Amino acid sequence: MRLQLGLQELAHYPFLKETQKIIADRGLSILSITQNRESRIYLEAAVNRIREATQIRDTQRYSEAEDAFLDIVSYGLARILISCIKNRTGIGLLARFEADRALYFVQLEQNSNLRNHLFRELGMPSGGGSIPFIKYVELSSTLREERFRLVNRDLWNGMVLVSHDDEVILLRERIRTLLIDQLPLDLPKTVCSDLEPYVKDVENIIGERITLEYGDVDEAGFPPCIRALYDAAGEGRPISHSGRFALTTFLHTIGMETTGIISLFSGGSGFDLEMTSYQVNHIISQGDEGYTTPSCATMRTHGICIGKNKSCEQVNHPLSYYRRKKKSSKK
Ligand code: SF4
Repeated sequence: MRLQLGLQELAHYPFLKETQKIIADRGLSILSITQNRESRIYLEAAVNRIREATQIRDTQRYSEAEDAFLDIVSYGLARILISCIKNRTGIGLLARFEADRALYFVQLEQNSNLRNHLFRELGMPSGGGSIPFIKYVELSSTLREERFRLVNRDLWNGMVLVSHDDEVILLRERIRTLLIDQLPLDLPKTVCSDLEPYVKDVENIIGERITLEYGDVDEAGFPPCIRALYDAAGEGRPISHSGRFALTTFLHTIGMETTGIISLFSGGSGFDLEMTSYQVNHIISQGDEGYTTPSCATMRTHGICIGKNKSCEQVNHPLSYYRRKKKSSKK
């Protein structure tokens, strides 16, 4: 029997494809939203959704939507607005927020049919206490906790045993990575310009969050590897592909403007503005797990862990080094 989902249920899981039909049935489209002033409540709700995604919280609690339809539409518009700014930190924050939010409602879910439907739609095995080996490797590949490493799991007959709690965490991770893979959306150019005031709001919100996490960009806190790459770029010396990648992702994550990153590379003899802009924009728009700053281990593998010092002994990631330095400089 076909599962009938109510608005409130869809507001809990707005990524389900059933929501698209609900929106279309009400005659709402991106064109009608940009052209109709009364539709701005949807855009304001989308901006608020992104704002909520940037808030650092200790415990996750999500309230029922007072207007479930507004909640569903704001999900779609938030994805559009975050795509317009093409900021991977923003995309990562939104994906994590949506995944945490869905997880919260899954844990309260009484409707087992809906729960099963959700798992099925996300391509997840459910309820059996075990997951096929290959699927487990795919689902857990982005989880850092030791207990999710394959060597720490019980394997039986090609299946990995999972507890109920682990199963929902794998579901959350599945939602997060799916959203990251989908973003940024490939939008017609006019969409972002039509939404300009809201796109600006989102840029400011993400910028404030980055500043809150990393403070203003401070070269004094750069780890030696990044310092070396940064100096080489500034002096127009050649940098390997992996060096450019590490430098770009690092600078972008700590909040340097895209134009600042591009101009850093402008001193090289073969500088090509169009090509550099394309490469930088490509790297920074690939989402949270797609293109992140490499860890120290990866930097070492690529031969760009340069100038390692005493402070490096306490970190395993260049961004951790930077965070620590910024924190200690505030004391
Ligand atoms: S140990 Fe890490 S932070 Fe230090 S220089 Fe090497 S890669 Fe950079």
